[in-house]
Amino acid sequence: RKPYQRLPEWLKTKKVPSGTNFARIKRDLRGFNLHTVCEEARCPNIGDCWGGGEHQTATATIMLMGDECTRGCRFCSVKTSRTPNPLDPNEPENVAHAISKWGLDYVVLTSVDRDDLSDGGSEHFAKTIRLLKEKAPHILVECLTGDFQGDLDDVTKVASSGLDVYAHNIETVEALTSYVRDRRATFRQSLNVLEHVKKIKPSLITKTSIMLGVGETDEEVLDAMKALRKINVDCVTLGQYMRPTKRHMKVHEYVKPEKFDYWAKVGDDLGFLYTASGPLVRSSYKAGEFYIGNILR
Ligand code: SF4
Ligand code: SF4
Repeated sequence: RKPYQRLPEWLKTKKVPSGTNFARIKRDLRGFNLHTVCEEARCPNIGDCWGGGEHQTATATIMLMGDECTRGCRFCSVKTSRTPNPLDPNEPENVAHAISKWGLDYVVLTSVDRDDLSDGGSEHFAKTIRLLKEKAPHILVECLTGDFQGDLDDVTKVASSGLDVYAHNIETVEALTSYVRDRRATFRQSLNVLEHVKKIKPSLITKTSIMLGVGETDEEVLDAMKALRKINVDCVTLGQYMRPTKRHMKVHEYVKPEKFDYWAKVGDDLGFLYTASGPLVRSSYKAGEFYIGNILR
């Protein structure tokens, strides 16, 4: 039996979110009935991201298509439902309108998986991006989509909607995929999504995330990173898995900060444009600062 693992110092965040941008975003979210991953996943970086942090590049991650997912991944705190509410036809307009007023520089649009919809919600997703880019062309837009059950036409729809960064998370190494993610997700299917995006639109930045601390070996992580480079994925983020509640899978290990530094170096050596690796790194953590500063402008 493993000893009880206390949360190590490096994972404790001290700052309480505050600031006017933070307050305004919170008010609008309620008003428009929008959901953010930042809040739903109780992300520890919310103060930094919404407030803009020291470099004043504010980022938020908006969740489209409701707060009930048709899948049930073992690490995820989003509710599961086989029959989520129908899509809100006003959501694309509301989201675009709200975001355009928030003073964000960078926004991540993501969604629950909607396997119940014939197009997986890809048109809804694409429409939101189109409207947002019409209203606020200066905001850089990243999408973080599911795998659309491997339907590449759905992927194409989103990839051609005018966005800047296309993210899809592999979440873990190949060997642990069926344990960590919903059984409908496979490692290969996720690689196919990322590969397809780059093929049809080489100018798009592609990006993925891996959670560490769920039982993966170093060799498996390296293999996953190599597989990603092989299909020209541009950016990878590596962060610590944190168990949202006792009903979710256990943390296997709190990976040390030095190990994350090691993976950042490996990422650079493998030729990723950007590797963000650290205990508190999340898919979208400070994405704006990096992309705006280094790649997109
Ligand atoms: Fe939101 Fe992502 Fe920042 Fe967390 S890291 S607060 S989910 S934008
Ligand atoms: Fe959570 Fe995404 Fe898995 Fe749904 S598909 S349970 S939102 S990680």
